[in-house]
Amino acid sequence: MPLKPSILPDLIRAAAETIDAHAEEVTALDQTLGDGDHVTNLQRDLKALSAKSDELAQMSDWSNAFQKIGMTVMSSVGGASGSLYGTLFIALAKAYRGDRPVAPTSLTLETFAGTFDEAVAAVQKRGKTDVGQKTMVDTLVPVADALTAAAKGGEPSTGAAEKVKQAAVAGMESTRDLLATKGRASYLGERTRGIVDAGARTSQLMICAIADALTGQKT
Ligand code: ADP
Ligand code: MG
Repeated sequence: MPLKPSILPDLIRAAAETIDAHAEEVTALDQTLGDGDHVTNLQRDLKALSAKSDELAQMSDWSNAFQKIGMTVMSSVGGASGSLYGTLFIALAKAYRGDRPVAPTSLTLETFAGTFDEAVAAVQKRGKTDVGQKTMVDTLVPVADALTAAAKGGEPSTGAAEKVKQAAVAGMESTRDLLATKGRASYLGERTRGIVDAGARTSQLMICAIADALTGQKT
């Protein structure tokens, strides 16, 4: 089903609600492995986006909408995660436009899957991070792969959403036993094993909430 940017306020709300609902749990993770500000950083980014909801809903094409999201997140200065999410959306804007003469006004699983892949690659480049380093990349890469597989397999949207959610949860869970070698957690060495990365958890939560909002499910 092709989506228009008018869906964005619902998706931003879904992301903000799940972060608020899991704030204590994630803060506990980030207090153990980081400096404890990850939830506050994300909430600041999401609040800035909520304030732009009406404007985003009225945008006519996805490339401009992604660009605005990226710039908004980038300028709300939300720690390492904020600049990485900013990078993700700015790269999405560029990839979604591609070399088309006119930017697409609708979004489908097929068009999104290829561009999300490129956007995640941009995050990895910016953060100099690969899978297995106990970061949000451990959630984002499997999600990009699941999107690509679902698009290739011609999955109906509910099946695709289910696979994306499973990939996000498995990716997030994979960070539990990893040794952190990126970001602040890397200073803690072996002590990082046994605890899920906060950024991997929040990206999983937001992806699952967005997938549910898109398929009309309530969690
Ligand atoms: P900061 O580390 O500046 O305090 P946050 O607390 O908002 O920023 O975000 C921390 C999260 O950001 C980590 O849990 C991790 O998932 C992610 N992160 C940090 N550095 C990187 C990196 N270089 N590449 C990918 N993700 C990273
Ligand atoms: Mg932090």
